[in-house]
Amino acid sequence: MTREKISSIASALVVGGGIGGMATAISLAERGVRADLIDLDPEWRVYGAGITITGPTLRAYRRLGLLEPIKEAGAITNQTHLYRYDGTLIHTLDEPVIEEGLPATGGIMRPVLHRIMQKRVRELEIPVRLGLTVTALESDDTGVDVTFSDESTGRYDLVVGADSVFSGVREIAFQHMGPAVPTGQGCWRISIRKPPGLDAGEFFLGRDNPCGITACSPDDVYMWMLTPHEEREEFMTDEELYSTLKGLLADFGGNAGWIRDNMTREDWINYRPLAAALQPRPWYNGRVVLLGDAVHATTPHLASGAGMAVESGVVLAEELARADTVSEGLQAFEDRRYPRCQDVIESSVGIGNLQLNRRPPEEHAALLEGALSRLNEPF
Ligand SMILES: Cc1cc2nc3c(=O)[nH]c(=O)nc-3n(C[C@H](O)[C@H](O)[C@H](O)COP(=O)(O)OP(=O)(O)OC[C@H]3O[C@@H](n4cnc5c(N)ncnc54)[C@H](O)[C@@H]3O)c2cc1C
Repeated sequence: MTREKISSIASALVVGGGIGGMATAISLAERGVRADLIDLDPEWRVYGAGITITGPTLRAYRRLGLLEPIKEAGAITNQTHLYRYDGTLIHTLDEPVIEEGLPATGGIMRPVLHRIMQKRVRELEIPVRLGLTVTALESDDTGVDVTFSDESTGRYDLVVGADSVFSGVREIAFQHMGPAVPTGQGCWRISIRKPPGLDAGEFFLGRDNPCGITACSPDDVYMWMLTPHEEREEFMTDEELYSTLKGLLADFGGNAGWIRDNMTREDWINYRPLAAALQPRPWYNGRVVLLGDAVHATTPHLASGAGMAVESGVVLAEELARADTVSEGLQAFEDRRYPRCQDVIESSVGIGNLQLNRRPPEEHAALLEGALSRLNEPF
């Protein structure tokens, strides 16, 4: 597909080679910008969880030309069932196809998704440097002078901070912003083989600890569970992760119960406290701009954080291509992204609060369904 070229910038540095950073580098390169990508991790890895790819996220990936490889390597489902924790069906979510030829929803293992995006980065010959970050940024009217952590320097027409929730770029260039705020919940995840017969997304509500299952390939799923977070000094051992999650699933029926009965110590299990932040505007300072979790970090309640990061990468390139000047493009980017990210973050945190306050499952379902249907609107 031919895309409108960006005329106001020739070069960009993207800091952070995760989901948002790669989406941004791909979108800019496709519009004729020489985009350099750097990542702090010398091995450019991602941990082994699955990830839910909603319809709107699939739509954003389609704009990057990556829908087909994601469909092939992941799992596509056309329904999500809401169950009571004991396995009784409450409701099946209405998940309309939002664009012709687009699946309703799906899932994929994170390392597989990363490989698909990395392959596209390589195909576009985007230079990637690893084990590197930025230590200083000086923005002026025509560009940004960058100092890297290996003491090398460079000058770029634009710098994009896509370096996630603890963003170093945010710390250097955005003094009016702050760290993400803990929401009081933590998220358990397990990657495990698929329960026999599972053919849709599944949510289990009505217990203190809601959970859900997403298929990630013909043979694999991941399950998440949200619990009130308790501060502790040390990380949990693998044995504690295994036995605690098994215990938390004690009363669950349906496929959540199947996972409890079939999980092993070899399955990937992780626990992480949740934090969110809609950072205050402006989201750009001179020619330095933020996107992804660096500026719109959300919780997993709508499974949309990665989708928001991909959309932001696509929208940044679209708005720069439309605008006559860099600042007009960055302002249009922020104006288009802020309300949508605000809705996702406020709805996600709102659902978390209902769970913490033990509100009836019907209230979660209503908030969830309303937010998901707004997300189906064009971005
Ligand atoms: C428990 C949990 C479950 C989730 N489940 C889902 C889901 O099912 N669906 C969904 O859409 N979203 C989900 N999300 C959200 C999603 O993972 C994030 O929103 C998304 O990964 C954000 O993309 P990003 O590019 O901003 O950050 P990341 O994908 O985290 O990438 C950031 C990159 O920056 C690099 N980096 C970090 N610091 C620096 C630095 N100083 N300099 C250079 N590089 C740096 C990192 O190495 C990394 O490669 C979940 C989040 C959590 C916490």
